[in-house]
Amino acid sequence: MLVLQNFIGGEFLDAKVANFIDSYNPSTGKVYAKIPDSTEDDINFAVEAAHKAFTKWSKTHRSVRANIMYRIADILESRQKEFAEAEVRDQGKTITFATNIDINRSIYNFRYFAGYLLHMEEKASILDGRAFNYVKRTPSGVAGLISPWNLPLYLLTWKIAPCIAAGCACVCKPSEFTSVTAFMLCSVLKEAGLPDGVVNMVFGTGPNAGQALVAHPKVRLISFTGGTVSGLKVNTTASMHLKKVSLELGGKNANIIFEDCDFENAVTTSIKSSFSNQGEICLCGSRIFVQSSIYQKFLDAFVPKARDMIVGDPTDPQTEVGALISKSHMEKVLGYIELAKQEGGVIECGGGRKELKGELCDGYFVEPTVITNLKPSCRVAQEEIFGPVVTIHPFETEEEVINLANDSPYGLSCSVWSQNGSRMRRVAEAIDVGTVWVNCWLWRDLSMPFGGTKKSGVGREGGEYSMEFYTEQKTVCLAD
Ligand code: NAD
Repeated sequence: MLVLQNFIGGEFLDAKVANFIDSYNPSTGKVYAKIPDSTEDDINFAVEAAHKAFTKWSKTHRSVRANIMYRIADILESRQKEFAEAEVRDQGKTITFATNIDINRSIYNFRYFAGYLLHMEEKASILDGRAFNYVKRTPSGVAGLISPWNLPLYLLTWKIAPCIAAGCACVCKPSEFTSVTAFMLCSVLKEAGLPDGVVNMVFGTGPNAGQALVAHPKVRLISFTGGTVSGLKVNTTASMHLKKVSLELGGKNANIIFEDCDFENAVTTSIKSSFSNQGEICLCGSRIFVQSSIYQKFLDAFVPKARDMIVGDPTDPQTEVGALISKSHMEKVLGYIELAKQEGGVIECGGGRKELKGELCDGYFVEPTVITNLKPSCRVAQEEIFGPVVTIHPFETEEEVINLANDSPYGLSCSVWSQNGSRMRRVAEAIDVGTVWVNCWLWRDLSMPFGGTKKSGVGREGGEYSMEFYTEQKTVCLAD
């Protein structure tokens, strides 16, 4: 049995109180690791370690910081297979997705922000020929970084990399469902020569370790990715101390398919945007709107592809859909399929648990499920399901579909499929979300702002936006 320890001040330590949380392998339904159920005492200890390290790290030359980050990326890359396999065991995702997306992007997160750091410039100006103004940027302090279970290492490193590039120190609280790759990362950080205490890892639950981190007075900023309900609690606690907060929350994203689209590409990519990572990506397009003239044609092409997806052993490179994160999450997803039936939905394919044999018989597998005949305003089409379930709805006009897409409490992302240039721009600009993909999905330039509107979050991360978050900017005005 794998037993995790916290990583504080460069040392692996047991939590102060020896309580543990069971961590399950989602494809077998069996416990395979024990996670420390850390408490406020562990958080306090980690914040002190981070605080101590911050004094020196914040003054360390940026070329030194960047070199360490490049080394972290290189070591991670040399252990990519091991990390991908661990992510599969811990999260239930497929080995193909873990290798190509999760671990690849984790490596790139460090390389991108190391490079960014070396090329940062500050603003300066001359005021009416009388005074010289410039911006002095300083790291904000100790950050609390809280990450979810769907893209464990990918999203944790998306926070750690800009944080340490900016010269901040941090205490991380990964999801209690998927802590293993975060634990493995600690030895990489040590091997790369990151000074002790710059990154600390405290494992445990949201209400215990997470809340203690958010409430700690010496933690100046919180970067949180997770569900909207937890995000609201984090925001409430953090606002009591006027902390800087970045919240990346839930989504219920529209995928809009116009009759003038590149049909093949729209269908193939929509399969990916619906079912990649078992639909457990905040950016998945779970509300598909198809123009009436091609609605039936789209269903005839999309449904068989969804039905034929290979659901099963996530360690097999052929598998396309792995296991959901937990039994309770699987039950929630299946509950929404039942609700869809009550709301008058037609199950075009899937609709149940995927029964597998042998070791996988207790795994949390759900068939890719396509539902039609639902009103876009019903609960199944409005609430975040976060599983391999999509609803498909016909629409007539551009104006109508813009209203339908915007009729959501969330505003994370949207996909638009059309080959009409002016329509692409018109629709993209009218949708109230943080990211719009036109004729593609999940393509990310890390220098672009990323975040959501409405209940999908507060703030933007990426390139200069992350640097703004992790630093304070002071204007210095020099007159003769
Ligand atoms: P969650 O909110 O349950 O947990 C996320 C993290 O927050 C975990 O580490 C958890 O322990 C911690 N946490 C929970 N309650 C807390 C509290 N009161 N105080 C401090 N920490 C707390 O989310 P999840 O179920 O792990 O992840 C799925 C959700 O994350 C989905 O809603 C998904 O859309 C969202 N998500 C959003 C993005 C984005 O970029 N917008 C990316 C990935 C996932």
